[in-house]
Amino acid sequence: MYLKRIEINGFKSFASRTELDFLPGVTAVVGPNGSGKSNISDAVRWVLGEQSAKSLRGAKMEDVIFAGSISEHRKQFAEVTLVLDNESGTVALPYQEINVTRRVTRNGDSDYFLNKKPCRLKDVLDLFMDTGLSRDAFAIIGQGRVEQVISGKPEERRSVIEEAAGVLKYRNRKKQAERK
Ligand code: ATP
Ligand code: MG
Repeated sequence: MYLKRIEINGFKSFASRTELDFLPGVTAVVGPNGSGKSNISDAVRWVLGEQSAKSLRGAKMEDVIFAGSISEHRKQFAEVTLVLDNESGTVALPYQEINVTRRVTRNGDSDYFLNKKPCRLKDVLDLFMDTGLSRDAFAIIGQGRVEQVISGKPEERRSVIEEAAGVLKYRNRKKQAERK
């Protein structure tokens, strides 16, 4: 599985619809300070269900919506779509390509879509759990995260290893079953 394309519209500094295509292998994003490089990885984590505005470097979730500039009005919504190549079948859906979309509006509406069909946040989380792509997984390593893993509590380190090994899904299911 790999990230084929990301479509960003009204998210942070991406005022209008922007498409970035990625090929398999290594891609480097370069640009001056403040040009929006980190906003791309924020967008990826956001689609995958990041709920913490702080970890997206904002104060509230509305801060992910383009706030306006000298030349452009602020936007009313932010929408990001990840297009994942699933020819390897890593994600348990019978599609060779998987689209995940998240959209929020200034009035607080928040929606998720899987291949254009409305779904719940839980569906997105379940789908990517144990693929390495989930919100807190090792696929996205932000600044400071390496140190956090190295110097973190044993339980925190264990959860990173468990996600990599693919056992987190079962642990969460067990927890849910015990709650019922
Ligand atoms: P660096 O090289 O310093 O890490 P970067 O390329 O990673 O920079 P980002 O942090 O991705 O830069 O982008 C920061 C820019 O995004 C800032 O100019 C900030 O004003 C802009 N930005 C963030 N949120 C919004 C928003 N909601 N609306 C408009 N612009 C925003
Ligand atoms: Mg940055």
